[in-house]
Amino acid sequence: MNNQELELNIGWLYPQLMSTYGDRGNVILIEKRSLWRGYKVNIIPLDQNATAADICRADLIVGGGAQDRQQGSVMQDLQGKKADALRSKIENGTPGIFTCGSPQILGHYYEPVIGQRIQGLGILDLVSVHPGKNTQRCIGNLVVEVTATLLSEDFKEMLGGATPYLVGFENHGGLTKLGTTEALGKVVYGVGNNGKDGTEGAFYRNSIATYSHGPLLSKNPFVADWLIQTALRLKYEQPISLSTLNDSLAMKGRQVMLERLGINLSTPVVLDKK
Ligand code: GLN
Repeated sequence: MNNQELELNIGWLYPQLMSTYGDRGNVILIEKRSLWRGYKVNIIPLDQNATAADICRADLIVGGGAQDRQQGSVMQDLQGKKADALRSKIENGTPGIFTCGSPQILGHYYEPVIGQRIQGLGILDLVSVHPGKNTQRCIGNLVVEVTATLLSEDFKEMLGGATPYLVGFENHGGLTKLGTTEALGKVVYGVGNNGKDGTEGAFYRNSIATYSHGPLLSKNPFVADWLIQTALRLKYEQPISLSTLNDSLAMKGRQVMLERLGINLSTPVVLDKK
């Protein structure tokens, strides 16, 4: 198939309610990197006006961070057929990038600082609890070494053999404890899931859950490509290889950040030569 025949439907969870922390940048990154390669892109808002059928149309799902109250409003709407549609999408391997408040609603529950426990979808085996108003919010740079099996191998390959670090920025009050769901990686700098067990995020089927804003994909463009490639392979049931884009600036920025945080790159990050 040539690129012009490929079409990517990006499902964007609650753009109004879940865009507090700049994660719309992840949608823009995926959209632009697809358009630059000549694919057709549709962005489908998966909000209160959307139906379960809209969720089913998504080839790739993006969910951003939100404030506690908005997470409650989202969960009031994400019930019944819509919840089932999202669950089966994730279970069937539709790739997704879910940041901060989004993984909290994909888990069993989130206990906010004020108000009732917000029941989640229970797709990810994790729980999140805000430890109380007198505790310090986790804000700052966050670096994670991806350790999730398969994903870390894919990223390593995309980085020419370098350690698969993700560079981002966290801003959360809630702390997350994983059950059986695999961690996305281990914290190299920052707090991550809870500041205690060294884990960050989660990886389930093809869904990446993380506390990293940034937006994450602008600082780690190879993750956007992994999502796009996974989505298209699944949709068209054939191998899809993405053409190379010039990411030298993004990769350099990433490298500068790692150095500033005192993280030694065991293998140099490969910069695009174009
Ligand atoms: N409301 C959640 C918390 O504070 C999520 C915040 C976010 O999405 N950045 O933990």
